Amino acid sequence: MRAFCVTVDLDRDVNILIPGAVPAGSIDRGSGTGPRFSSSERGLSLLIDLFDRMGMKATFFAEAATLKAVDAGVMSGHEVGIHGAEHEDLTQIKGADGKRAVLEEAVAAVKDAVGTAPASFRAPYMRADEETVGLLPEFGIKADSSRYAEMSRSLMPKRLDNGIWEIPVPEGTDAGGKKISAYLWPMHESKRRPEDYVRMASAMEEGAFVLATHTWHIVESRERGIMSETEIGTNLGNVRKVLEGMEDIGMRPMTITGVREAMEKRPV
Ligand SMILES: [Zn+2]
Repeated sequence: MRAFCVTVDLDRDVNILIPGAVPAGSIDRGSGTGPRFSSSERGLSLLIDLFDRMGMKATFFAEAATLKAVDAGVMSGHEVGIHGAEHEDLTQIKGADGKRAVLEEAVAAVKDAVGTAPASFRAPYMRADEETVGLLPEFGIKADSSRYAEMSRSLMPKRLDNGIWEIPVPEGTDAGGKKISAYLWPMHESKRRPEDYVRMASAMEEGAFVLATHTWHIVESRERGIMSETEIGTNLGNVRKVLEGMEDIGMRPMTITGVREAMEKRPV
């Protein structure tokens, strides 16, 4: 297997931790830190158009509150996994029952929104403790993509003792010795070029290279605010260049569930 996964976190716009509160907020653009969903919704529709034009299936990690706020039906045909209920930091929720309540709400929201049971999980803020990952099988979840893995020639998913497949996001160093991860965040903030990610991926000989982004980040910069239409076009074009670049170096697009199922079929 030499695959790449397009993963997209569908969550509240420019989400931030609110000290002392469990639900996340959105960055304050002058009207407070209450959650906003408009950039997330617009970015979702732009990304779906792009993926559908390219004939590519993505995996969305969707938080319950955002699923209820946007037109979730557009994700039909793509994989929809879970990403919390109110974009909680699960490591800060003490006790298994509190975490169970979040996971239960997240699973129900996906079923309500798209009619299918989720099978994949990414923790908000990429913060999942062992207790959370240990609870995933109770909720029908079979794969976790909440961790970073050191970039190497082999990025084969690993199976945990409880049966969960770990399909992590790679991170490493670029030719100039600077840290790079397969989260496209810096590219949306104009600090990385599409080629940087393709070069990074080209070092993988086998396994799954998991790219990650957020829907809101297609139309809103954390540092510069809502983007102009020109900036949005450039940003979306850069995402396209990354995906085309992956295909050009012979990597095959797969969903997280696609990768997991391929691993399950391999002889032990
Ligand atoms: Zn998130």
